Amino acid sequence: MPHLMNTYARQPIAFTHGQGSWVFDQQGRRYLDALAGIAVNTLGHAHPVLVKALSDQAARLIHVSNLYRIPEQELLSDRLAEISGMDEVFFCNSGCEANEAAIKLARLYGHQRGIEQPAIIVMEKAFHGRTLATLSATGNRKAQAGFEPLVAGFVRVPFDDLSAVEAVAQNNPNVVAVLMEPIQGEGGINIAHDEYLQGLRRICSARGWLLMVDEVQCGFARTGKWFAHQHAGIVPDVMALAKGLASGLPIGACLAAGPAASVFKPGSHGSTFGGNPLACVAALTTLAVIEQDALLTHALVLGETIRAGLRTRLSGVAGIVDIRGDGLMIGIELDRPCGELVERAVQAGLLINVTADKVVRLLPALNFADAEAEELLVILTQLIREFLGA
Ligand SMILES: *Cc1c(COP(=O)(O)O)cnc(C)c1O
Repeated sequence: MPHLMNTYARQPIAFTHGQGSWVFDQQGRRYLDALAGIAVNTLGHAHPVLVKALSDQAARLIHVSNLYRIPEQELLSDRLAEISGMDEVFFCNSGCEANEAAIKLARLYGHQRGIEQPAIIVMEKAFHGRTLATLSATGNRKAQAGFEPLVAGFVRVPFDDLSAVEAVAQNNPNVVAVLMEPIQGEGGINIAHDEYLQGLRRICSARGWLLMVDEVQCGFARTGKWFAHQHAGIVPDVMALAKGLASGLPIGACLAAGPAASVFKPGSHGSTFGGNPLACVAALTTLAVIEQDALLTHALVLGETIRAGLRTRLSGVAGIVDIRGDGLMIGIELDRPCGELVERAVQAGLLINVTADKVVRLLPALNFADAEAEELLVILTQLIREFLGA
C-alpha cells in the first residue's frame, strides 16, 4: 500500500497518457473521457498548442512570487475582465481558495460598512470546497460531519427560491452577500432559473449586498457562454473560478466588480503560488483556443445534441427521472443510487461520474468531438439500460 492518506475511494486504474478525449492505462487499454478531470481538462489531454505554450514558459520562468509584477498575470486579468464585464481579479490556486477569497472579501466589505457580524446567504446542496470556511458554506451535512465547530456567519436557504432570500432580507440586518452556484455541480446539476438570478441581482442591488457566484465548475465556456450567469443577462459583484480555467494547471480566480473591487488593500489577502506565470500562460492559452476554435458555440450545440440523444435512447425507460444540463454540463438523474455505474463504465472503456448519489454526471472537454459524443451515447445508454434492467 502506498503511504497515502485514505481520502479517496479510487478506481483501480492508472493512466499513462492521454490524447484529446482519450486516456490510456498502464495495460494499454483506452478510455473515452467524458469527465475531463471533473471539468478541468478544458482542451482535452495533450493539446498541442497548450503543450507548446507550457514547455516554452517552463523553460523561461515558472514562478517568481507576487512580490514582483507578473505580466502574464496582468494580461490574464485583462482578458478575464473583458469576457466577464468585471473589474479586478485576485489569483489563487483552486476553487476553495477562490471562494475563500470571496468570503473574506464579503466580510471585509461588511466591516467597512459598520456591520460587525457580517453574514452570507448560502444554498442547500451547495458545494464550495473543503477548507473550513468553504466547507461551512457547503450545504452537505455528510461533508461537514466531524469537522465542527464550523465557521459561523452563513445563513442557509433552499436553492432557486427567491421568497426564501426575501424572507431573510426582512429579518437579518447582518447579511452582506449571497453566495451561490448558477448551476450546482456536486449537488446534482441543479440549474437556477434565469428569473431567480435576476431576482437575486435585484435584491442584492437594492440592499447593498454582494451577489457572489461560484462558477468554479459551471464557468469558463462550459455552458456555451463564458459564464453560466450570463445566460440570465446579469453581472455579479464577485465570481469564483478555478477548475477548467487553465486546462489542468492549478489556478483559481476571484473576480470583483463595482464596490466589491476596491475592498482588498495590500496586506488584506495573498497567495504564494497564486497567478504564477506558468498557470497564467495555461489560462491565456486555454482562452485563446476557446476563441479560435469557436468552442463556446460547440459546447452549446454539442450539449444539446448529447441531451437529445440521451432522451431518444432512454425514452420510456423506467427509472430515468430527468435528463438536464446546460452546454457540456450534463446530469442524468435516476430513481436510485447508481454509484456502481462508474465502475461499470470503466469496464466498458468510459470515464463518467455519479454525484448526489443518483445523478450520472458528464463534463467532457469543450473540444469533445461529434463522433465521440455518438460513441458516448451508445456506451452510456446501454450501461444505464442494463443497470435499470430495462
Ligand atoms: C470543485 C468545486 C469547488 C472546489 O474546488 P477545489 O479546487 O477542489 O478547491 C468549489 N466550488 C465548486 C462549484 C466546485 O465545483
